[in-house]
Amino acid sequence: MPSDRLQAKGVRNLVLVLGDQLSERSSAFDGLDRSADAVWMAEVPEESKHVWSSKPRAAMFLSAMRHFRGTLRRRRIRCFYRQIDDPDNRGSFAEELGRCVRRCRPAGLIVVEPGEYRVREELLRAARRLGVPLEVRCDRSFLCSHEAFAEHADGRKQLRMEYFYRQMRRRLNVLVDAAGRPEGGRWNYDASNRRSFGRAGPGDVPRAMSFAPDRVTRGATAAVNSVLPDHPGSLESFDWPVTPHQASEALAEFVGNRLASFGTFQDAMWIGRPFLYHSRLSAAMNLKLLDPRRAIAATEQAYRDGHVPLNAAEGFIRQILGWREYVRGVYWRFMPEYLEGNALGARAALPAFYWTGETEAACLREVITQTLRFGYAHHIQRLMVTGLFALLLGVDPREVHRWYLAVYVDAVEWVELPNTLGMSQYADGGVMASKPYVATGKYIDRMSDYCRTCRFRPADATGQGACPFTTLYWDFLMRHERTLASNARMRLQLRNLRRLSRADRRDIKAAARKLRSACQEAE
Ligand code: FAD
Ligand code: SF4
Repeated sequence: MPSDRLQAKGVRNLVLVLGDQLSERSSAFDGLDRSADAVWMAEVPEESKHVWSSKPRAAMFLSAMRHFRGTLRRRRIRCFYRQIDDPDNRGSFAEELGRCVRRCRPAGLIVVEPGEYRVREELLRAARRLGVPLEVRCDRSFLCSHEAFAEHADGRKQLRMEYFYRQMRRRLNVLVDAAGRPEGGRWNYDASNRRSFGRAGPGDVPRAMSFAPDRVTRGATAAVNSVLPDHPGSLESFDWPVTPHQASEALAEFVGNRLASFGTFQDAMWIGRPFLYHSRLSAAMNLKLLDPRRAIAATEQAYRDGHVPLNAAEGFIRQILGWREYVRGVYWRFMPEYLEGNALGARAALPAFYWTGETEAACLREVITQTLRFGYAHHIQRLMVTGLFALLLGVDPREVHRWYLAVYVDAVEWVELPNTLGMSQYADGGVMASKPYVATGKYIDRMSDYCRTCRFRPADATGQGACPFTTLYWDFLMRHERTLASNARMRLQLRNLRRLSRADRRDIKAAARKLRSACQEAE
């Protein structure tokens, strides 16, 4: 029986639960009266279509939402739930919400602040149109409130994650001693965390935990295949944790088996090994299946018990307590203007191969194919392969943003946008990163085995076998030399640029022009 045919009378508050708010401990449920209140959840096609959401991403949200509906039902909480494959699904939040409100006439609506500015605005508009008061509650799954972030940021000329992170460590007493000094004497062990696997390769990395699709997940994947048949990506490999219990198991497996080497090899990449020593916990945390406090506590405990070294524990905690909280602060502080950032004036279209993986560049082929198959790439793959290429090519940051928001199972705008537009594309002019993350193909060669199977040569900027990254790197520096000259952190790279002869510069420019038009022709 469709859930909205359930008894709809007598609703006091209608609690709206969005796809990334799947926690029973959510502030949305504070004061919930099961006899008077009800929950509303909707799988709306519009949310999978406003960016061309990949099948793994759509399935991740739908499966986790349907499991959460099961939890609510077991708790005897009344739930109006609209499935994406219900024949009369109206397609948008506003329409679906309107239908439910007209049916059950609640006195008020309650929602936890959404993870996307657009959705928040849409809900506020919908509530106004419907004439029902909407209470927006804070999201307490995060460790830094908007007020605390503002306190940190106000009055600073420049924001830097490192200072924010130190404050968070002190404030929450994580890896610090009684006097507030950092464990081991240093705040940051990043210098120990940049190793590659060398020629020997990664060897036997313990397998990340895999969750075979159950009946609910199979229903969600079938719905995705039928409603979004032409969306990118595939579902054959779908094995993500989609319940709080599974997320806890995934955390325990990671901390027990793979955390110890997380730090050392966190930047390394290898063909056919998408997960390596990474936790695969981002989607579980972003959908609120796993509280980040638990991940941090389990990591610190593993260090205190002597199971993992400090560089691993500190490195992992920095990602969650530092970067994750910091990007959320940046997103809400600078939206909606942030979305318009294009500091380098990039205008090119995103090459079509980002949606297929069909390119001769082995690194891009590997990362994009893996992304479409699993909905996953680790940080350096996102930053220094797909992100780097788009930056060097000069792709419009809005297009890059739409791709990243579409393809990853963990993509929610508050975390995706500052990482893409800011850290990866430098489109915010330096809010997220103190300089553009640019490198030649030699960086990728050092950190992976991709170049060994590639027809290009990472050191060459021109000629038959020129690596597209290397050509575009020098071209990027030439195009932006003036803008970047005032950035002290770019001094060394610009000094090397000035060593190029006129003839080299001319040849590189010509090769870059050719590459750029080949990429746009394929559009
Ligand atoms: P691990 O490598 O095991 O790291 C542990 C956790 O730290 C992650 O689960 C994540 O919660 C957190 N974390 C690590 N780096 C970051 C970061 N830079 N910002 C915020 N949190 C971080 N992360 C998302 O969750 N959603 C996104 O949509 C997203 N888009 C990105 C786009 C670009 C261009 C880049 C460069 C990075 C993006 N990231 C995003 C950050 C990071 O790449 C992913 O969090 C990470 O790869 C997820 O894999 P994991 O869980 O195995 O992470
Ligand atoms: Fe990528 Fe260049 Fe290496 Fe080929 S040679 S894999 S294009 S970095």
